[in-house]
Amino acid sequence: MAEFPKLRLRRLRKPNLRKIFRETRLTPENFIVPIFVDENIKSKKPIESMPGYYRIPVEGAVKEVEECLELGLGNFIVFGIPSYKDEVGSSAFDSDGVIQKTLRKLKSEFPDVVVVTDVCLCEYTTHGHCGVVKDGEVLNDETLPILGKTAVSHAECGADIVAPSGMMDGMVAAIRKALDDSGFTDIPIMSYAAKYASSFYSPFREAAESGYKFGDRKGYQMDIHNSDEAMREIELDIKEGADIIMVKPALPYLDIIRRAKEKFGYPLAAYNVSGEYSMVKAAIERGWLGEDVVYEILVSIRRAGADLIITYHAKEVVEKLQ
Ligand SMILES: [Zn+2]
Repeated sequence: MAEFPKLRLRRLRKPNLRKIFRETRLTPENFIVPIFVDENIKSKKPIESMPGYYRIPVEGAVKEVEECLELGLGNFIVFGIPSYKDEVGSSAFDSDGVIQKTLRKLKSEFPDVVVVTDVCLCEYTTHGHCGVVKDGEVLNDETLPILGKTAVSHAECGADIVAPSGMMDGMVAAIRKALDDSGFTDIPIMSYAAKYASSFYSPFREAAESGYKFGDRKGYQMDIHNSDEAMREIELDIKEGADIIMVKPALPYLDIIRRAKEKFGYPLAAYNVSGEYSMVKAAIERGWLGEDVVYEILVSIRRAGADLIITYHAKEVVEKLQ
């Protein structure tokens, strides 16, 4: 490298030049828009702890996707709020369940959009845990076949990618096998490989009615202090057949995103979670921060190494990208 005054880094920062030398770009293709579909409502319902975000009825999903497409957003992840819950979350794999109905509607209307489905049980169980529970304990191995069945039922209804989020050991292998056995060898798995037991999820629990009745999720989600363990989790999921790995949350775990991208070079998604969204919205609402922080945060997640960002900010920020 040359030295000052031969080298002046400011030369390339002139307004017409700096755009050319931007190292990180954010495009609508980088975003996945989360949609909460509620089987129990007839019209759009605001989520109090997530200003500007809504639960929508099954019938409203088409309109929601249409609006996003007009903005250039074509990737979605759907979460379901079912009308029926039980101990084992059987409405998660019901062929007439909330996600299955939504998928059929969306994929018949818009065959080219990408619909990712959340494969977990916490929205479908009465106790709100991500698996089968016995004596207050989430049973890992007993949960796996149910996840397999759920993924297959999503694939049957047109899901483009399935995304297991429950952090059960062996979930990716179980889902891969279930999909392959049913002929869905081409359906990719986006695994929530490093999902931390974070305090940033609380608004989501209101959004998806997935709060739990007892205990916590620290037995299966990751300890926030650990980074090496995240690499082992990710490696395990890749070995089990994950096509895309995910780190969740995003902002407090940018180091994990960067480390995972450097170590594995795999397609990587980051989940910019509900709490990250809500705190920014609250600060903007109070006038403490300007709206520009949203773009800066999303750029930071991309710069850290994420190819895809699941974010509630997608709609508000996408217009600024053009
Ligand atoms: Zn779950």
